[in-house]
Amino acid sequence: MQYADIVHRCFRCGYCNFTSDFQDFNCPTYNKYRMLSYSPGGRMWLINAWLNKELQWSEHFADIMYSCATCNNCVEECVQNKFNSYLSEIFIAARGEMVEQGLVPPTVRDYLKNIQLSGNPYRAPAEDRGKWSEGSGLTRFQNDEYLYYVGCVGSYDERGQKMALALGKLLIKAGLSVGILGSDEKCDGNEVRVLGESMLFEELARQNTDQFAQLGVKKVISLSPHAFNVMKKYYPDYGAGFDTLHYTQVLWELIKLKKLNPGQLEIRVTYHDPCYLGRHNGEYRAPRKVLQSIPGLSLVEMRRNRKDSFCCGGGGGNFFTDILGSGPDSPAAVRVKEAVATGAEVLAVACPNCAKMFEDAIKVEGLEDRLQVRDIAELVLESLKD
Ligand code: SF4
Ligand code: SF4
Repeated sequence: MQYADIVHRCFRCGYCNFTSDFQDFNCPTYNKYRMLSYSPGGRMWLINAWLNKELQWSEHFADIMYSCATCNNCVEECVQNKFNSYLSEIFIAARGEMVEQGLVPPTVRDYLKNIQLSGNPYRAPAEDRGKWSEGSGLTRFQNDEYLYYVGCVGSYDERGQKMALALGKLLIKAGLSVGILGSDEKCDGNEVRVLGESMLFEELARQNTDQFAQLGVKKVISLSPHAFNVMKKYYPDYGAGFDTLHYTQVLWELIKLKKLNPGQLEIRVTYHDPCYLGRHNGEYRAPRKVLQSIPGLSLVEMRRNRKDSFCCGGGGGNFFTDILGSGPDSPAAVRVKEAVATGAEVLAVACPNCAKMFEDAIKVEGLEDRLQVRDIAELVLESLKD
């Protein structure tokens, strides 16, 4: 296994479990289970023991490995600078070993099979992939300045589709030269990669980079921070020659250029930093700038914000595999209660996965009267007077 020679270096001090001020447990799995085996250090010791044959594989072992949300809090907080930047990658490499040996949990197996057979996790037909865009004014990419890449959740999930449509309408309103791929769009493979299926990921990365090169794509706008992450950081290994932007970065540019002029919206909002935009890619500013550009909107921060943000629990493939699980003590339930504590009436998100995770948690917690989940593009669109 890659990194096998460094897993023993963790000495289980536990700093990685916390926020930077040590006030809260910030590893979502440790916070839920409060058992060392579900902490980053515990995982390191379990992997080491498994590789040394001191521990046998079991379904429980696989669940512990696959419950990790790859949120990168441990990467941020681990004090061992000889290996801290690799922590998530070590957990992904251990999953890769399990994939190779056919030892993955059933929901992981099903997710990967669906991507292989249908090209998306929903087993939906490819021809339905662009249906969300009907009536938006968006057309097929044809020598446009930007490709708007929507991803599987934005294309097929009802909540994701609303977000995809709101952003599409905004891009058209701003007069941007932009097109979509519709039924020709393929899965970006971020979740495939973090679930450890490196062969399938390579295939997807090559397909997408080849397709984008053939079409002459120079700039990609990603709806999802997950696709943004994988295209920006990993596609260059497969020859990608385009720039990838998260949509909040594009909206902020359009607002600065006065191509979008947000209108009055008298609401109190708190913002949740998605792990794949924040900790993984260091973008904390653009989403806040967009929100602050809406006159009347008051932005209040949750106790845990920016690099201390608490994961929604949907990362690392858990959005689809549900190994970390929902319920009252789930990361999403903890987070929506934290949002309510700020007095905000809106929890603003910048990721379709977070939107869905939080909406479900609000229902479970019975908080529908106190908190609404709104995507940043939806808020900007709502503010525009027409
Ligand atoms: S991963 Fe790093 S911070 Fe966490 S227990 Fe191991 S050495 Fe300590
Ligand atoms: S990546 Fe996140 S969920 Fe996984 S072990 Fe690290 S802190 Fe916990």
